[in-house]
Amino acid sequence: MNQQVASPTVRTTCPYCGVGCGVLATPQADGSVAIAGDPDHPANFGRLCSKGSALGETLSLDGRLLYPEIAGDRASWDEALDRVAGTFRQTIDQFGPDSVAIFGSGQLLTEDYYVANKLMKGFIGSGNMDTNSRLCMASSVAGHKRAFGSDTVPGNYEDLELADLIVLVGSNLGWCHPVLYQRIVKAKAERPDMRVVLIDPRRTVTADIADLHLAVQSDGDSALFVGLLAHLAQHGLTAPDFIADHTSGYSAALMVAEDWPLERVAEAAGVPPKAVEIFYSWFAQTEKVVTVYSQGVNQSASGTDKVNAIINCHLATGRIGRAGMGPFSVTGQPNAMGGREVGGLANMLAAHMDFTPETIDRVGRFWGSNTVAKAPGLKAVDMFAAMARGEIKAVWIMATNPVDSMPEADAVRAALVACPFVVVSDMSARTDTGITAHVRLPAAGWGEKDGTVTNSERRISRQRPFLALPGEARPDWWIVKEVARRMGFGQSFDYESPAQIFAEHVALTAFENEGSRSLDLTGLGGADYATLAPTQWPVRRKPTARMFGDGRFLTPDGKARFVPVLPPPPFAPPPGSFILNTGRVRDHWHTMTRTGKAARLSAHYAEPFVELHPADAERLNIRRATLVRLSNRHGSAVVRALVTDRQRPGHLFAPMHWTDQFASSGRVDALVTAKVDPVSSQPALKMAEVHAEPVNVR
Ligand code: SF4
Repeated sequence: MNQQVASPTVRTTCPYCGVGCGVLATPQADGSVAIAGDPDHPANFGRLCSKGSALGETLSLDGRLLYPEIAGDRASWDEALDRVAGTFRQTIDQFGPDSVAIFGSGQLLTEDYYVANKLMKGFIGSGNMDTNSRLCMASSVAGHKRAFGSDTVPGNYEDLELADLIVLVGSNLGWCHPVLYQRIVKAKAERPDMRVVLIDPRRTVTADIADLHLAVQSDGDSALFVGLLAHLAQHGLTAPDFIADHTSGYSAALMVAEDWPLERVAEAAGVPPKAVEIFYSWFAQTEKVVTVYSQGVNQSASGTDKVNAIINCHLATGRIGRAGMGPFSVTGQPNAMGGREVGGLANMLAAHMDFTPETIDRVGRFWGSNTVAKAPGLKAVDMFAAMARGEIKAVWIMATNPVDSMPEADAVRAALVACPFVVVSDMSARTDTGITAHVRLPAAGWGEKDGTVTNSERRISRQRPFLALPGEARPDWWIVKEVARRMGFGQSFDYESPAQIFAEHVALTAFENEGSRSLDLTGLGGADYATLAPTQWPVRRKPTARMFGDGRFLTPDGKARFVPVLPPPPFAPPPGSFILNTGRVRDHWHTMTRTGKAARLSAHYAEPFVELHPADAERLNIRRATLVRLSNRHGSAVVRALVTDRQRPGHLFAPMHWTDQFASSGRVDALVTAKVDPVSSQPALKMAEVHAEPVNVR
C-alpha cells in the first residue's frame, strides 16, 4: 500500500464510468482507505456501484510501474525524459511532425489532456493526437455536431427521474452505468406509471426494469427510429411550430423516413410488428421522453446516423431543452467529456473548436505558437494502420491499452512492435501495450492525482489526492510538460500545478468565445479550481438553465438540423458464422489493471466467456461451461461457454476485459474487424463476424 498524504476525508470522483459519482475517501490508521459515496454529489447522492465501492481494494502497489524504464531497465527521470524528447525531436526533424503521434485516454484528467493536446497540436504542429474515447463516443460527438452545430449533451441526470418514458437504446445501464440505473429503479418504484423501453439485441439485466424489450438484431435500432419519424408525421403527432421555428431539414429527413412503414421496420429490426406498434404509441403519447443511448448505438459502422435518427425524433416532437425529455448520450469513460472539451480528438483543435483558418489563428495567438497544426490528424484506427505502414515512427500512449482494446488488436500489437519508438506512460508495469514500449514512464494513479473530470451530464468535478506518489510516479501533466520543455517549448509549458493548467483552459474557453455565437456554450466563466464544487457547464448561465431551453442551437442560423438517415442493410454473416457483440461486465473495468486487484470483483465473472443461445449451443455440440474457440481471419480466442436464452440465435456476446495478463487467449477485440463509421471513424466493436467451435480438452 502506498503512503497516505491525508487522513481526513477527501472529496473526490470515481475513476470508472461516465456517471462520475462523488466519492469520500478516508485513509485509515491501518493503511487502508475507507470508501463511501458522497451524499452531496449531484451525480450519485451517496450511491456507489460494486466497482466504486471496491475502490479501496484496488490501491495496492502490486503491478505498479514505480520507476522510469528504458529498454526494460530502470532509468532516471532525466534519462527517460531526455530519451523521449530527443527521439521525438529527431523524428520530427527527419520525417516531419506527422511522423509522430499521441494516443490518449478517457482516463486522463482534463489538465493532462489539455497539456498533451497543446504539445501535439499547438507546438509539434501535427493533428495526430487521438484517444481511446474514439472507441467510446465519437459517433455521439459527430451526431451532436450535425444536429446542434456543437458537441453538446442536452440532458441532465434529473431528467431520468422526471421522464414518463425512458427509452434505453444499446445501453446496459444496469451494469455499465449502475448508479443511473439505480436512480431510474427508484424513480420507477415511486412513480408506477413511468415506463421503460429497452432496445438491445441482448436481454441484459437492464431488461428487468423494462416494460417492453425490443430484442433487435444488430443495427436494427436504426430502422426503428427512422420509422418512428415517419409514424409521428403520418399520425400528426409532431410539433409543427417547433419544427418551423427551431429546425431545418425536416422535409428531407421525412422523405427518406417515409419509405419505412411499420412492417418494414419490424422486419429490418427483427422484432414483431406488434412490439414496434406499442413502442411507437408510447413514444407518441408521452410528452416527457428521454432516449438514453450508449455503445450499442455508437460502436457501429452507422453509429452517427443512428444518433441522428434518435435526435430527429426528439426534434420532430420538440422534446428537447425541457425537463424530463431529450436525447441523452451517456459516456463510457470517466473523462471522455473532459477530453472532448479540450480537443483531445484528432479532428478537434482545442476547446470544442474544429480546425478552421480562424480557430487556428485564434488558438495560435492564445498559445503564442506559430506552428499550430493546420488540419485534423489520424484517428485511432487510421493511426495504428499508419504505424503498420511505417508512417508513424514515434508514438506516445498514455493511460490506455490498445493492444487489447482496439479492433484487430493483434495487428495493433504488430504495428507497435514494428514502430521504431514507443513510449507508454501508465500506472501499470506490464500491460500488453506496455511490454511493446521502448520507454515506460510511471504515471500517478487514482488517489494520487489532482485535477478535474467531466461526467455525462457536463458536470465538472475534482479528483483529489489522498495518497503520496509511490516510487517515482508523476502526474501525466508533469511528464508532458517536462518532455515539452526538453523539446524547446519550455516557456509555454511552465506549469507548476494542475490549478494553473485549469485556469489556462478556462481562459481559452472564454478567449475562444470572444465575439462568437458559442459564447455561452463552453464558457466556464469564473470557475475557480480551488473552490470548484461539482458544476455543470456552461457556468455563466444560471445553473438550472437547460441546454437549448430557448430553442436556439449552435448552428449558424440558430436552428437544429434534421439529418436524413437511411437504415443500413442487415448485417448477415455467411451461414455457419455468428455476429459477435463485445462489451462490459458489471464488476470489471476496461483491461482490469485496477479491478483485477479486487478479489470480490472477480467473483462475479472469474474468467472470459461467451454467451450463446441454447439452439446454437446444441447445433455446435457446445455444452455449458465447456471451452469454445472463437475465430476469424484476424485471430482467435478461447473462452468459457455461457449458454443462455438472453442471446438471440446467431448472436454471441463476449466481454472485452480479459488480456494476456489475466487469461491467455481471452482477447476478444483481436477478432473485431477495424471497420469504422464513415462520419465519426468510431470502430464497429459490436459486430464482428466469427466462427465458434467446441474445444476438446482431453
Ligand atoms: Fe463509479 Fe460509475 Fe459505479 Fe458511479 S456508477 S461508482 S462512476 S463505476
